[in-house]
Amino acid sequence: MDAITYERAADVADAVRAVQQPGAVFIGGGTNLLDLMKGGVERPVRLIDITHIGGLDGFTTLPDGGIRIGALVRNSDAANHALVREQYPLLSQAFLSGASAQLRNMATVGGNLLQRTRCAYFYDTAFSQCNKRVLGSGCAALEGHNRMHAILGASPQCVAVNPSDMSVALAALDAVVRVSGPAGERSIPFAEFHRLPGDRPDVDTTLRPGELITAIDLPPPLFSAHSHYLKVRDRASYAFSLVSVAAALQMDGERVQTARIALGGIAHKPWRASAAEQMLNGQPLTQTALNNAAAAALRDARPLAGNRFKVQLAQRAIVRAVNQAAGRTGGVA
Ligand code: SF4
Repeated sequence: MDAITYERAADVADAVRAVQQPGAVFIGGGTNLLDLMKGGVERPVRLIDITHIGGLDGFTTLPDGGIRIGALVRNSDAANHALVREQYPLLSQAFLSGASAQLRNMATVGGNLLQRTRCAYFYDTAFSQCNKRVLGSGCAALEGHNRMHAILGASPQCVAVNPSDMSVALAALDAVVRVSGPAGERSIPFAEFHRLPGDRPDVDTTLRPGELITAIDLPPPLFSAHSHYLKVRDRASYAFSLVSVAAALQMDGERVQTARIALGGIAHKPWRASAAEQMLNGQPLTQTALNNAAAAALRDARPLAGNRFKVQLAQRAIVRAVNQAAGRTGGVA
């Protein structure tokens, strides 16, 4: 076993300084990092414990009416906080559909943003081909078991998907990720936080070296009356999504004022269905309009041998989620 040193960061500046040492990584809840270390996928030599930093574990109401969720808030606390439940029910539903109760009690919001793909070839070092683990080694999933993998935005280098439920809701809500690093603080619009694989599938996010996530900002709550998070998975609990949909609407009677639709389980990052949103904005929410929008969302899908079913599944999930967000019970196109 490799020797590992442990440091407890006193504050954000201390953490940012400490993580610049060779082989150092932050550890928060540890629910993903420890798995990766046990499997030999990650081999840090210094763990910088950020869980004792003050001021990162609370909720703050922002001047514009939004809320700031500290990066160290546990997933279960975020899911059950009154402000989140009442004003951002989409996000609360997404939190509660992720992992298990035990893991949600331990995992932090900041760590959830950084959890790595659950591609089995990535986690099993017995497989030599994985560009995300060893750049240039190939991708075993391309010709292997790829039922859970991407149908949008993938590259020949990697067809993995992002596993986070929380992030799908945050994409629909246009959240902002706040970070602090060697060059100071900055804010990253959610759409720019996670990356598509391209030719660097080993890089999941646009975080710069040494940057620490300090909070997630939610814009003012525009969708609390009409939203729904739908997760389609192989079993009812403790399973990653085959397809998930975060649907948020502003309605004027039967007409859609604004639609937000984000998809999970189908790409390397939470996937905003922008074409579908534009087709619904300003239009009456008819079944035909919704079916057409769902088809447009998957127009560019490139399924693999094992996951062709995801295209129709995603279309039907969009229809069901948007209908439920609008307060209708109808679902399947
Ligand atoms: Fe590795 Fe990505 Fe291929 Fe999975 S899909 S084997 S993570 S390169």
